[in-house]
Amino acid sequence: MPSLGHFAARPRRGVGPLLDSFVLALARYRPSHFLAPLLFLPAGLVAGSLPAMNEFFFSLFNVLPTVLLLLGGALCLIYGRQRQLFMLAVVYIGYFLLDTQVDFYRDTGAPRADAPQVYHLVCLLLPLLYGLYGIWQERTHLLQDMFARGAVLAAVAALATGLSRSFPQGLLDLVSSVYWPSLQVHWMVLAQLSYLAFLLAFGLLLTSYLRQPRPLHAAQLLGLFGLLWMLPKVFLLPYALHAMSSLVMFNLTAAVAHEAYLMAFRDELTGLPGRRALNERFQRLGQQYVLAMVDVDHFKRCNDTYGHDVGDQVLRMVASRLRKIGGGGEGYRYGGEEFTLVFPGKSMEACLPHLEDIRQMIEGYAMQLRDRGSRPGDDRQGRSQRRGQSSQAISVTISIGVAERDAEQRTPEEVVKSADQALYAAKSGGRNRVSVHGKSRRGAVRTA
Ligand code: GH3
Ligand code: MG
Ligand code: MG
Repeated sequence: MPSLGHFAARPRRGVGPLLDSFVLALARYRPSHFLAPLLFLPAGLVAGSLPAMNEFFFSLFNVLPTVLLLLGGALCLIYGRQRQLFMLAVVYIGYFLLDTQVDFYRDTGAPRADAPQVYHLVCLLLPLLYGLYGIWQERTHLLQDMFARGAVLAAVAALATGLSRSFPQGLLDLVSSVYWPSLQVHWMVLAQLSYLAFLLAFGLLLTSYLRQPRPLHAAQLLGLFGLLWMLPKVFLLPYALHAMSSLVMFNLTAAVAHEAYLMAFRDELTGLPGRRALNERFQRLGQQYVLAMVDVDHFKRCNDTYGHDVGDQVLRMVASRLRKIGGGGEGYRYGGEEFTLVFPGKSMEACLPHLEDIRQMIEGYAMQLRDRGSRPGDDRQGRSQRRGQSSQAISVTISIGVAERDAEQRTPEEVVKSADQALYAAKSGGRNRVSVHGKSRRGAVRTA
């Protein structure tokens, strides 16, 4: 058995570690994911509820769905977001079909002959297709994927059109009947099947968010509520259809753009801002700041012993601790198992206690190996080790090198270099310690 060095396997201690991994897992769900949709959708609700609208906004909402289809569609194509492309398309098709009906009703004072079929079909198919495309992962070749999605849309459209032409009454009965009288409540404007479709789509999109909590999935989920609010009001409020379709499409488009931003600036694994964000931060640091380079000790050994999944878990744990560092510090993932802490406007003396705290906190933390996550790489050694360690907790240590901006190191790049030299000193001095550039400062001696 290889020596674990600074990777100590610890016996499990009660429910504490389990609770910690639960908290760690819960931290992936952030209220910030819902911020943008919670801004856009109420805006659609307010605009859609207005009894009158001035000429400017009326014209704006008339063209907005088409503009958003083109703009959002282009963004989706550029970023290879087929799911959102087709979600935009189904919202737009629903909007277009209903708008034609609303225009006819407004012009003639009476609904068009096929209005009930079109309305009920849209109320049923819009949530279903919106939910389906929302969870349909982009997997295959781009063109094949587009073709498959397009084929589903074309088949559903052909079936709906064919049935409504050949059996208009039968189709209307099918989609608008009250199947469960005991569940019918007076406020239910849509057909029961339509509510069922919304419920199904909600389940699918919620699962998608819970499995992968990210802003895009939050936007998809909340967009569904916009549609649920809109459909019963299409013929009742003059701007509900235009305003809410626009805002649901805007919500999706903005989420695609947000996702692209996150891909560029945020590290996927840890959720911390990444190297590019750090470089941007360097431009705005001013005259006084402290930078610390943090490196997990013997991390390669952790990967070799427990597998990359556990290694990833360790990185997430370290990142979650670094995110909470005091003293105004900001955590970034520099790359690999290295992190950078930026303390803008702070002196070395002000930062050191916080760095020492974080070092001790990580050293004292026993990370519970989750069953799924504790699976090591498929090498034989890893497998045999796992058999004996599946119910263990492990702990890790970090080394920190820290440097301050001064007359000798004036740019962030120079300060990082100095912090790196200090980190090297911390490593060669025995690891699990904070080392200050220009002096040797021992951290607490590791006890594990
Ligand atoms: P030291 O104490 O001197 O820092 O030793 P170390 O083993 O931590 O350093 P080394 O640079 O040799 O190893 C870093 C390892 O980190 C190698 C690489 O496979 C692993 N690594 C880098 N990024 C990731 C990642 O995202 N996930 C996982 N699981 N491992 C990673
Ligand atoms: Mg390293
Ligand atoms: Mg390391």
